[in-house]
Amino acid sequence: LKPPDRAFHGHSRLLVSDVHSQYESIRRGKQEIPKYFNFASDVLDKWSEIEKVGKRPPNPAFWWVNGKGDEVKWSFEELGFLSRKVANVLTKVCGLQKGDRIIVILPRIPEWWLVYVACMRTGIVIIPGISQLSAKDVLYRLQASKATCIITSDTLAPAVDSVASECQFLKTKLIVSKSKREGWLNLTDLYKNQSADHSCVKTRIQDPMSIFFTSGTTGSPKMTEHSQGSLGFRPLVSERYWLDLTPSDVVWCTADTGWILASVGSLVDPWVFGSCIFIHMLPKIESAAILNTLCEFPIDTLIGAPTLFRMLVQNDLSRYKFMKLKNCMSGGEPLNPEVMEHWKSKTGLDICEVYGQTETGVVCCVFKGMKIKPGSMGKAVPLYDVQIIDKNANILPPGQQGEIAIRSKPLRPLGLFSEYVDNPKKTAESERGDFYVTGDRGIMDEDGYFQFIGRDDDIIISSGYRIGPFEVESALIEHPAVVETAVISSPDPLRGEVVKAFVVLSPTFSSSDLESLTRDLQEHVKKTTAPYKYPRKVEFVQELPKTVTGKIKRNELRKKEWGRM
Ligand code: ATP
Ligand code: MG
Repeated sequence: LKPPDRAFHGHSRLLVSDVHSQYESIRRGKQEIPKYFNFASDVLDKWSEIEKVGKRPPNPAFWWVNGKGDEVKWSFEELGFLSRKVANVLTKVCGLQKGDRIIVILPRIPEWWLVYVACMRTGIVIIPGISQLSAKDVLYRLQASKATCIITSDTLAPAVDSVASECQFLKTKLIVSKSKREGWLNLTDLYKNQSADHSCVKTRIQDPMSIFFTSGTTGSPKMTEHSQGSLGFRPLVSERYWLDLTPSDVVWCTADTGWILASVGSLVDPWVFGSCIFIHMLPKIESAAILNTLCEFPIDTLIGAPTLFRMLVQNDLSRYKFMKLKNCMSGGEPLNPEVMEHWKSKTGLDICEVYGQTETGVVCCVFKGMKIKPGSMGKAVPLYDVQIIDKNANILPPGQQGEIAIRSKPLRPLGLFSEYVDNPKKTAESERGDFYVTGDRGIMDEDGYFQFIGRDDDIIISSGYRIGPFEVESALIEHPAVVETAVISSPDPLRGEVVKAFVVLSPTFSSSDLESLTRDLQEHVKKTTAPYKYPRKVEFVQELPKTVTGKIKRNELRKKEWGRM
């Protein structure tokens, strides 16, 4: 790939506003949002036109590698051409229609992007799933969603077959594979022979586009519905966005395809700006491969979960020289300030924090160029009025801890999910007064920066003190012996509950005397944070329980801990 032409750079900003300019008056609140909107025809096909007249820099729209020498590069035109073929498979071969639901569980292969865009073109609702799901997880998702079709690859097809008889709604199974499989249609063969003539359906802005299962950190994953508007239209009307991109940029988001972060950071948002989406199909998230990729490819923006950065800083970063990396974003879990500092000292780059939920998309973030306050996840995005509220939905003043909430009345802001599918009770529970409540606790400071304290149910109350686990974890992780840690409450006859830390040790400390190391860690926490927060109990473990999206499941540890009583 040629490096993006400098001359295009200034020009491309104008073009971004070409796609955006039609929405300017909506941004200014002078015009109502349109009744109809479809991301494929209103954004992707527009970029295709701009590209056709030679007004987009020579940057692919999609660039995929697998580390084995295979490479796929598509322009917007090619993306359009191929996704129309897939759209015809879905409607003509499978007989699916607008409003039908498909579960799509694919690794990071190019077909995932084609299927996604094909769903937009046909109005079919896509339900992305994570590749590591078990047969039981697939069954839960198929039954809960009543999906009539599933698309997956060789890895998960046997699991699907093992539960298919219990899924009365499932009619069609499509496999992306080099070989045939009994009872399955082969998408790879089918779409190549389809016609590329397809006209995009008309969708209302509130029509469903995707349904995401939440991570299930605190219970069964919930089906969260997003519309063409909340997912596709939202970035077009945000005056300032978490990603600041141009059509010359290359963006790499390492999130698994099943997570909303992939739909946002690896599909919708970069394409709104006409940028290139880069994908490395790493079979396993492995730090050396990631660092090498950043050195070999002109990636400008890297988006990942804190686990990614925690893993990367374990390497000797001075050995790597990144080709173009300038923006790093981390979201999905709190990022430890220690990791941020380490990364900055070795690479010169900041990690900008992004806070969001499946239900809300991005809520707060550190915008480009904004002052970073370590331990804070930035300011509210322009579309959301984010406040800290109490149990009675009263707004709390700066500096006071409460629940992070988004004003949702009288007007539900664009970006917020439509509902929990088939679960009006849960939907209602997420509302309090004029707000949607996130279930996370935080503090806002005088400048409007938000600090994450913890999930409401992770808060430890010891001798009357409220302790957020994250602060203790961040203190512990500063100690060289600690690779990862999870802090929860543990029963205590005197104090009700006390702070307990589960610690994964760094290999160099594995033969240490654990009793003195425990004392060391306790002293360290007492010195780095308020002494009452120190872990009275410490347990060393090989690994921590995590969700498939890589989040620490504190509730699982807590259940075990309290079950021991
Ligand atoms: P479930 O709702 O099923 O229990 P989940 O809440 O983990 O699962 P997600 O929607 O994937 O499912 O995660 C959103 C949550 O992740 C937020 O509510 C918050 O607790 C946490 N989170 C996301 N980003 C950040 C961040 N930057 N800092 C701290 N926490 C974050
Ligand atoms: Mg949640």
